[in-house]
Amino acid sequence: MSTSSGTVPEVATPRLMAFTTGAFYVAGGSAVVLTTTSTWPHPGTRGGAILGLATIAVVVGTMLLTRGLRLPRWAFHVVVGQAALMLASGVVLSSDDTTALGVAGVFVFCAIDNLYFFSRNHAVAHTALLLVAVAGSLLWRGIDPGVVAAMVLVQVAVVTVIGRLVQRASHGTRDSLTELLNRRGLDERFEEAVAKAHRNGTSLALAVVDVDHFKEVNDSGGHAAGDALLVSLAEVLTQSLADHGPPGAVLARHGGDEFALVLPGCDQEAAAAVAESLRRAALPAGLSVGVAQRRAHEDAGSLMRRADAALYDAKAAGRGRVAVPASGDDGLVEDLRAALLSGGLSVALQPVVVPGTGEVVGVEALARWNHPTRGPVPPTQFIPLAEANGLVKELDLAVTALACADAVRMREALGRDLLLTVNASGQHLVDPDFVAELLRILAETGWSAHDLVVEVTESTVEAASVATRETLEELRAIGVRTAIDDFGTGYSAFSQLDALPADFLKLDRDFTSQITVSPRRRAVLGGLMRMSHELGLLVIAEGVETAEQEAEIVALGCPLAQGYLFHRPLPVGELLQILLRDAPPVPAHHVLTPIRDI
Ligand code: C2E
Ligand code: CA
Ligand code: CA
Repeated sequence: MSTSSGTVPEVATPRLMAFTTGAFYVAGGSAVVLTTTSTWPHPGTRGGAILGLATIAVVVGTMLLTRGLRLPRWAFHVVVGQAALMLASGVVLSSDDTTALGVAGVFVFCAIDNLYFFSRNHAVAHTALLLVAVAGSLLWRGIDPGVVAAMVLVQVAVVTVIGRLVQRASHGTRDSLTELLNRRGLDERFEEAVAKAHRNGTSLALAVVDVDHFKEVNDSGGHAAGDALLVSLAEVLTQSLADHGPPGAVLARHGGDEFALVLPGCDQEAAAAVAESLRRAALPAGLSVGVAQRRAHEDAGSLMRRADAALYDAKAAGRGRVAVPASGDDGLVEDLRAALLSGGLSVALQPVVVPGTGEVVGVEALARWNHPTRGPVPPTQFIPLAEANGLVKELDLAVTALACADAVRMREALGRDLLLTVNASGQHLVDPDFVAELLRILAETGWSAHDLVVEVTESTVEAASVATRETLEELRAIGVRTAIDDFGTGYSAFSQLDALPADFLKLDRDFTSQITVSPRRRAVLGGLMRMSHELGLLVIAEGVETAEQEAEIVALGCPLAQGYLFHRPLPVGELLQILLRDAPPVPAHHVLTPIRDI
């Protein structure tokens, strides 16, 4: 296992191994070709044989450079050993001593590879064999022993210096306190494991381990006590992993009091079992562990985030335990599908008011999903999920149907007309059945097309296809009005306002929040207000949260607003209670009439 002593230097990632060996084979082969140029006119001689060997080396090197990543680590023993064999043959076959010495010089490449790739003992064995082979073949040629000794001396010196440097580079990936891999070392090994799992289609799991109440140990016993705990934990975990972990498991110190475990070949259950045995081995020190199994095509970063999220859950659930991620997004899509089929979605209504008076002239319908086990899921999470999984059309229609029924109830309870605005995803708008479906819902619920507004985002309209524009025109033809949602977040030019197929502009919350802090934004809004007025577009300022913001939009002549300052989105029953209690049911004709007459 990679955590035991005398291991492979951490600089030797398969990528680096393939690259260095490939480069050396190509360079070595080419160098030998150059030293044999004098023999080129005489094919069939010894020079020809060397040329053949050198050409093979260049081909092998090129293959290593392009496909070497697929090789397992042990294969490099063969690759490097074979290079040594080729060199020794080259020395023997050389037609003259100068060529033989040139060929022997290439041997330093093999020595460097040995040091980088293999554990110290293996590297020493490889290099000793190499020296014996090359020195032996030089002596066999009858080259002066003094010259051979000098050559060996130089090579030994080079090898020693490089060996030291490799060790040093290796330490860059080791934690000096626990001697485990540090974060950098982990990153390399983890990426490597992810690439391998991807290539071979094998499973892989990651566990992140946090020491419970480590801060208290540090605070009460000082840093020395904290350090001692980490060192002893590193030993216990290493031993336990050797006993219970899968082959190729990697343990690292991931951060201050965090360890991480890469578990190749483990599914979630197996990984959780390994983590649990480690947790028990560490007692009485308490550990919280988050475990996640890699999903198909998942990258290292995402797997790490999910394991971290599981660790967070383990801590939140009271520490001293192993946790796995709550059923993933895959499950969430299925749950959303089921909720749509069984009517599990609901609607919250947020009033649209006249700023200054607070008079309610309409409501926006916002989708709500109370997941049976997870509780409320925010729309910012499930709407994109619905869009990505082809469910948004059903969702929008379900919300619209519920909202129309709620709006009918409100109209009856308040005894006056209201506007209802619903959100439609851009995807939904290109659906040729959209208008027909809407008409069906209106007929079934008894809501009037003239009191319905469909909101589409500014970005949807900007990117509008012919089909989208046609749908918007069709909507207006049946009397439904349209609103550009989140206005101010896209790039719509003022000069194009008149070309927008819309009746309302909903000013994005970010824009609203800036008018009290940025005089430039205020000036822009003033301009927008005048222009919209000229064009007969009604502006609704969204996300009004403070009285200051309200005063500002009133001063600028903004006719309508929405925001927590007035009302939060609520289920129809609760909203009606508040409206009937707080606001005397004033007939809203003076507001509604101009809105309806657009
Ligand atoms: P949106 O259409 O821009 O809706 C306004 C969002 O701002 C709502 O968030 C609302 O609760 C929130 N909000 C209202 N007033 C304030 C305020 O004063 N301050 C702050 N901070 N927020 C305020 P919600 O309900 O989380 O919805 C988020 C988004 O999800 C919506 O943004 C909309 O794009 C989408 N969405 C919601 N329901 C549906 C739906 O039925 N269909 C589609 N396609 N999208 C929907
Ligand atoms: Ca909206
Ligand atoms: Ca909006």
